[in-house]
Amino acid sequence: MFGIVVCPSCDRKRIADLKDETSSCPYCSATHRIVGSQVLYSNVSQDVVRKTFKNMDSAKYLGPEARVKDPDPMSSLMYQYERAGDTRNKYRVLAYGLTKMRGSFNEDDINELFPGKGEKMIRMMIDGELIIESPDGKYVAL
Ligand SMILES: [Zn+2]
Repeated sequence: MFGIVVCPSCDRKRIADLKDETSSCPYCSATHRIVGSQVLYSNVSQDVVRKTFKNMDSAKYLGPEARVKDPDPMSSLMYQYERAGDTRNKYRVLAYGLTKMRGSFNEDDINELFPGKGEKMIRMMIDGELIIESPDGKYVAL
């Protein structure tokens, strides 16, 4: 079974094999679970899915009411973090996810997920040029 899924990290649509357990996004390289992903369309034929994807009217498939909200975005983020590979990629996933969820974040937000590590991780994200300080004194992903 193939389907058109929405990447939970970058919100882009793409085709995925729905029998796979996880899938990597070619746009933002985040890995996410297929189960629990938003599937906009599915069909046993990859060809049919491809055609639908090509002709897709994104407004029709991805209106605000059609979007299923992730019931537990923090768990999804942690899952992506665990699967992100090297440290830099992990930090990127974390910075991007927190920015997307909260607009901006600070040490306290990271301490919620990694107790006591907020300060160090923020410093490494700044050094790695993954985040910048936002006008409200918090941080946003670059
Ligand atoms: Zn993506």
